[in-house]
Amino acid sequence: MDFSILTIFPEIFDSFLSHGIIRRAIEAKIISVNPMDIRNFAEGKHRITDDRPYGGGAGMVMKPEPLAGAIAEAQKILPGGRTILLSPQGRPFKQSVASELSMLDGLIFICGRYEGVDERIYKTIDEEISIGDYVLTGGEPAAMIIIDAVTRLLPGALGGEDSAEKDSFTDHLLEHAHFTRPSVFEGEAVPDILLSGNHGAIADWRLESSLIRTLLKRPDLLEKKMLGSREKKVLKRWCEYIEQLISA
Ligand code: SAM
Repeated sequence: MDFSILTIFPEIFDSFLSHGIIRRAIEAKIISVNPMDIRNFAEGKHRITDDRPYGGGAGMVMKPEPLAGAIAEAQKILPGGRTILLSPQGRPFKQSVASELSMLDGLIFICGRYEGVDERIYKTIDEEISIGDYVLTGGEPAAMIIIDAVTRLLPGALGGEDSAEKDSFTDHLLEHAHFTRPSVFEGEAVPDILLSGNHGAIADWRLESSLIRTLLKRPDLLEKKMLGSREKKVLKRWCEYIEQLISA
């Protein structure tokens, strides 16, 4: 999958692209990431990419001409790629959106700065995406978040052992608890079942852990989940346990 990122600060991505799974995915040619400097599409000696807003008011606005030039070039490089403006006003980014985007061949991200982009740029984009209900100073962290979440869903990106299938939010559940060596840490032991080698029992324990964590931390997710008979049984057992506690 190919990503192009339109930004006035391409160097922000240097570290992000040279570590961990993202670096490995680039080396394995699972993804390519191309940060493009919007300034290269600006006219004049100073290559200015922003200007004062018509109508007055605080802050600057990203000029349309450099953005349009950069977008046209990126769309030429990635024909058929989806052009996404990063914006707090966009569609909320979720695991389901990451999954949807991971099916595409290419994504072009436009990172806004200042007060945002000139409104006339909207006709050149496919959609706006927001990474949450808060305002960043620029779209670059949002581009990194989306690239990261999408890349780990691509076949081969996590390597043989890791898997995104059981990750939180897949199938409306948070992932189960994890433990690693040592088996006792500060007097607290790993649950016996995880040391038992009984794969069926471990799978049951993990399902229970996943359901209870979701119930306690994000009950809103469970409302969207179609519960199977095993899951209903676990939750019923916990409800009975809580009822016993209350009535004791
Ligand atoms: N004035 C804009 C508004 O109130 O909607 C906010 C502009 S923000 C300071 C500058 C840039 O950061 C935006 O153009 C966008 O690219 C990026 N940005 C800020 N918050 C974001 C969010 N929650 N999700 C994605 N991008 C965001």
